[in-house]
Amino acid sequence: MRGNLKDADFKMALIVAFGAFVVIGVTPFAIYRFAAGQRLIGILDLAIVTTIGFGVLRAWRTGRSERTALLMAAMCSIGCVLVAYLGGLAGVLWVYPVLLANFLLVPRLHAAVLSALVIGSVAMLDSVLATLLHKAMFSVTTVEVSLFAYVFAWRSESQRTQLEAVAAHDPLTGASNRRNMAAELKAAMADSERERAPVGLLVFDLDHFKAINDSFGHEAGDRVLVQVAELVRRHTRKQDRFFRLGGEEFGLLVPGADTTVLRRIAETLRSRVESEVRCGERVVTMSVGLASYCPGESAGSWQRRADLAMYQAKREGRNRVVVDAGSKHAAARETKAPGDAAKS
Ligand code: GH3
Ligand code: MG
Ligand code: MG
Repeated sequence: MRGNLKDADFKMALIVAFGAFVVIGVTPFAIYRFAAGQRLIGILDLAIVTTIGFGVLRAWRTGRSERTALLMAAMCSIGCVLVAYLGGLAGVLWVYPVLLANFLLVPRLHAAVLSALVIGSVAMLDSVLATLLHKAMFSVTTVEVSLFAYVFAWRSESQRTQLEAVAAHDPLTGASNRRNMAAELKAAMADSERERAPVGLLVFDLDHFKAINDSFGHEAGDRVLVQVAELVRRHTRKQDRFFRLGGEEFGLLVPGADTTVLRRIAETLRSRVESEVRCGERVVTMSVGLASYCPGESAGSWQRRADLAMYQAKREGRNRVVVDAGSKHAAARETKAPGDAAKS
């Protein structure tokens, strides 16, 4: 699947919350350190607050959260070791929230490495942990906190991934659902404009499907839908996106395909369905509409053109492919040679 948009939103929310916590939580200590004449620790606190504050602003402006999250985790990890070195117990107390934050902010492996470095460095500071007993207690408690944080991060990540997969896919055919399509269309449009590469959309609907249900039953109809979905998956590439738009209507988003290639893919799928998909002895067919994306148009307009082409295919007698007339304009603007979109 394409990079997960919901996951990015969640990461951004975490970064903003954590950044706000650091700015609000550490600033009073920085002021206190300056007031108490501990300028070095004050400067260190201030450096942490400003770096993280600017990092959050940058992430918010650019929408890119990964590097900011790593910067935050590294900054806080180094910061708490230095505070422990300069200020003793205060730094040790910061280790615990920093360990938790590491596992919430960055991938688990990165967090584990950062946390091991923090624990190892602070445990070696004789000025803070004078006796072997103190070192052992510190190591055991911090490793325990890290392990819990690791398990928590792993569990919540896998549950989020599972929930997102369930919410985004149709359980019968395994195709992405309509809800997912809007985001995928937008991302494909942006890719197409940035890379000046064509992208096409097929919309197809099974012909006289109600009659199949009426004659053979709903379960047989379901099996036909599964056959069609399997066939489409067999004949498309990994980067093509397959959607069930509802009932017996599907969509296929084909990056890199100009109108000529798109038509060839549509024709291949149409003829394969006709020759391979059966309900009992009955031949199953479908009507296909296709539209190439015209740079600058909205996702709604693009999809509407593919829909209208599909309805035209129905009107013209079904079991055929119709190319949307507006795709000619897209063809004129297509700058790359016909793509390598067809696997078959
Ligand atoms: P056309 O050629 O004009 O598309 O005719 P059609 O009979 O395919 O179209 P219509 O929209 O009249 O019927 C669609 C049928 O699809 C009606 C509905 O019962 C059936 N259907 C919708 N979802 C499912 C499903 O998940 N499983 C099954 N078996 N049938 C479904
Ligand atoms: Mg139909
Ligand atoms: Mg339909």
